[in-house]
Amino acid sequence: MRTPLIAGNWKMNGSASLVEDFGRAFAEKSFPASLDVVILPPFPYLDAARRAFDGTRLRLGAQTLNPLHSGARTGEVSGRMLKEFGVEFALVGHSERRQLYREDDAAVYDRLLAALNTDITPILCVGETLEERDAGKTMDVVLRQVGYVMARLEPEQRTRIAIAYEPVWAIGTGRTATPDQAQEVMAGIREYQASFDRDLAAGMRLLYGGSMNADNAAELLAQPDIDGGLVGGASLKVDDFLAICQSAG
Ligand code: 13P
Repeated sequence: MRTPLIAGNWKMNGSASLVEDFGRAFAEKSFPASLDVVILPPFPYLDAARRAFDGTRLRLGAQTLNPLHSGARTGEVSGRMLKEFGVEFALVGHSERRQLYREDDAAVYDRLLAALNTDITPILCVGETLEERDAGKTMDVVLRQVGYVMARLEPEQRTRIAIAYEPVWAIGTGRTATPDQAQEVMAGIREYQASFDRDLAAGMRLLYGGSMNADNAAELLAQPDIDGGLVGGASLKVDDFLAICQSAG
């Protein structure tokens, strides 16, 4: 069975003291035995987070990485560097990076490969805009984003990724996809994976992201093809994030 995964994407938010708060809160609570919990803080907090989360269920992730190991890439961070700080997961293709930093499918693929090559689990983010949904293009867009990557990976590499479906219109808007809407798209992603390999499809973790919070998480996570959540705003509040984790097991 697939182990549920709850990932908190802090984006460009948080502080050194929030890292400490999370470390303390998670040290005290118990969680479902089968659950992975990941926090993705901004880079400057990784080292403090590694220390604060030691001995807790919290694992570390990064919000992006550069395709290269090192070199003249001012402002960038490589997978090899992240690995030194205990990073186990990395987002690639978040819609904010696709839109604001013009990362196209090829750029997303390069980053995903860099994560795999440094033994970091990439979480490939995909999702349609409101315009695309209204035009009936949701599945075309999502499967194009997934397919670009899948078609280029070796079979073994395909087993080492997770996918997050984040409809762009639901991110930071308070407008969550309904469980049925999310389930429909995510079942479609899993069905598409099955065209490569049925075992791959059965084992791949699919996360939902977009205004997930303590009130709607349980219902979303109860859907058969939703194996976890990629949480933005609600991952910045200890109590909300704890509640989401506790509803996932
Ligand atoms: P919100 O939960 O704030 O909508 O953000 C979702 C997201 O983009 C997580 O990566």
